Amino acid sequence: MEKAMYFLDQKDMPTHWYNILPDLPEPLPPIVHPGTKEPCPMDMPLPPPLFPDAINKQEFSTERYIEIPEEVQAAYRTYRPTVLHRAYRLEKALDTPAKIFYKYEGTSQAGSHKPNTAIAQAYYAKKEGFKRMATETGAGQWGSALAMGCVFFDLECKVYMVRVSYNQKPYRRILMETWGAKVVPSPSQDTDVGRGLLTEDPQHPGSLGIAISEACEDAFANDDTKYSIGSVANHVLLHQTIIGEETRKQMEMADAYPDIIVGCIGGGSNFAGQFLPWIRDKISGKKPDMRIICVEPQAAPSLTKGPYTWDFGDIAGLAPILKMYTLGHTFIPSPIHAGGLRYHGMAPIICHLYKLGLVEARAEYQIPVFEAGVKFARTEGIITAPEPCHDLKVAIDEALKCKESGESKTILIAHSGHGHFDLGAYDEYLSGKMQDYEYPEEKVKEALASLPKV
Ligand SMILES: *Cc1c(COP(=O)(O)O)cnc(C)c1O
Repeated sequence: MEKAMYFLDQKDMPTHWYNILPDLPEPLPPIVHPGTKEPCPMDMPLPPPLFPDAINKQEFSTERYIEIPEEVQAAYRTYRPTVLHRAYRLEKALDTPAKIFYKYEGTSQAGSHKPNTAIAQAYYAKKEGFKRMATETGAGQWGSALAMGCVFFDLECKVYMVRVSYNQKPYRRILMETWGAKVVPSPSQDTDVGRGLLTEDPQHPGSLGIAISEACEDAFANDDTKYSIGSVANHVLLHQTIIGEETRKQMEMADAYPDIIVGCIGGGSNFAGQFLPWIRDKISGKKPDMRIICVEPQAAPSLTKGPYTWDFGDIAGLAPILKMYTLGHTFIPSPIHAGGLRYHGMAPIICHLYKLGLVEARAEYQIPVFEAGVKFARTEGIITAPEPCHDLKVAIDEALKCKESGESKTILIAHSGHGHFDLGAYDEYLSGKMQDYEYPEEKVKEALASLPKV
């Protein structure tokens, strides 16, 4: 029998997150305080009072395995372990000797990997006595994950949602409101940052950088509130490693080991969650030729076009300053459908690994990306979110290369979620109305003028 799904029993779900920091060949650059412009101390790397203490400690922890609290494990067990699939039908359609696997995070209640960290962050805020969480969301995936996480730990949730998405994507807003969150379009009237921008332009479309500033301001202004971020930060990538830790066990069940791992990167959390537990084998020399391919949109090409430098995480300079490949915190993205990939920067851990040559990067246009998404839907059946359609494009390219060379490589796809709320994008693609966007080189240069002086 050809097994197409590998299930891990709940009793075998990993009990620890994997922390890459002690295994990095060179240490990660520190985080810089947005006010003082000085490096934050390693024992309190995130400027207080934004995050719960436990999260601050995790950010630069040197512990290799960090235990997942029992309450968080119990919440994970409402949807984990997720399934590892073998894509036989796609392999057959491509007529490739490659073996293609995908770890699918679309079966969480929010439809993506994001609850893996939302649940952990809500748990720590609750445990430390806070009542409320504030956050930003672009297309709504992160906001909906945190809204759900807050349900599990009985917290209030306030979401600043980028205005263009708020207007264009009512279903994600309704999802958040059903879970009990309060959602406002950003820029909003609820913060100084928002009011300032609305005075300049009452129709301001918003951006993720602006929404982050609003959520940070909210947490600064309210003692009962903690800020929560859905990607980029080390602790978020840490929480996502449950994905790769499970996959390692499942690949063993399949008697397989990946030669190539592909995933999309917005802030970098889902893909790092999959590949960090594997990259230690590349660093240690156990699997030196493993290829790890990070895929980003041509419309937001941080790794492939941005410089590696210090930049703010948000527009108002309230969030920490990070060393990253960046398009500048003033970046206003083109309206591509992969809303989760439109952030100006990238997780410092991914940037560091890219700089060290341990991971590769590729930028793709959205039309061929959707073509891959449709091919996947018409073989494997799953309607993929626009973000992981980027993985599918590159995985298919690599599988076709195997067909040419006759090599039977094992390709592992980090499939981060379903696209049931993205049917408008599929409609645009299917009706031939979709456009490609490329981020112009001049804009990258312009944005560099506004970088912080560190
Ligand atoms: C948010 C999101 C992403 C991008 O975020 P990362 O932090 O880079 O993982 C990718 N896929 C899906 C389905 C998302 O919701």
